Amino acid sequence: MELLTGKRALVTGAGQGIGLAIAQTLASHGAAVMLADLNTDALQLARQTIDGQTGWVPCDVSQLEQVSEAVQRTVDELGGLDILVNNAGITRDASLKNMTEQQFDDVISVHMRGTWNGLKAAFPVMRNHSGSIINISSLSGRVGLFGQTNYSAAKAGIVGMTKAAAKEFARGGCRVNAVMPGMIDTAMTQAMPPEALARLVEDIPLGRPGQPIDVANAVLFLASDLSGFITGSVLEVTGGQ
Ligand code: NAP
Repeated sequence: MELLTGKRALVTGAGQGIGLAIAQTLASHGAAVMLADLNTDALQLARQTIDGQTGWVPCDVSQLEQVSEAVQRTVDELGGLDILVNNAGITRDASLKNMTEQQFDDVISVHMRGTWNGLKAAFPVMRNHSGSIINISSLSGRVGLFGQTNYSAAKAGIVGMTKAAAKEFARGGCRVNAVMPGMIDTAMTQAMPPEALARLVEDIPLGRPGQPIDVANAVLFLASDLSGFITGSVLEVTGGQ
């Protein structure tokens, strides 16, 4: 059964990892999908893995004008915007002692500012219809992880931002929710030291790291009418962590 027939989606950070799995999953349920990412080579490869109507747009989510351009391209090329997934992300891990101001600012700017830019750019287009916006937070934002004072702060901030934005978008029927993944097997986690990674997996009750598709399926639920009365909520995808 296709859950998203006729819907138009924009996914940021869609060149690889969780964003790519989200784009593939939304497309497999009938959505036309615009892929946005910093990495244009990855975008072109990503597009080849998706059946159905797709487009791609280079976009640095920390720059409002680039996010606005991505929204406009989605409207122009796909005919509208019903689903926005604010997924793009980076890590710049370091202990508080070693973290630089630049590392702090970079992470805040991509995650917090990037998510706000998505909400801001989409508002004029999505506020008056029954669309769905999904922001990707992280378990790190709820429990705090060593070496991630920047990332944990940004991901916690996305939760508050989601709840506030849900109230502003609700008038027109558009929903705003967050997905909070735990440890997911992507380039982002593969960059961690193996011992730290092994310790994280030991703490997962279901006994395995999540896969990008696990997050994508949660996003699919929130994007579809199955979640029609859910807004301002946070859906954890953590294997029970
Ligand atoms: P990933 O494999 O590193 O993919 C992230 C994508 O975002 C990359 O294609 C990256 O491009 C792109 N990107 C980075 N900065 C960007 C910017 N300023 N503008 C547009 N695109 C940008 O990471 P992932 O694991 O799939 O993570 C996706 C999201 O899930 C992130 O928000 C992350 O924080 C969140 N998350 C991940 C995990 C996990 O365990 N993996 C857990 C919780 C939450 P480049 O390759 O050029 O940098």
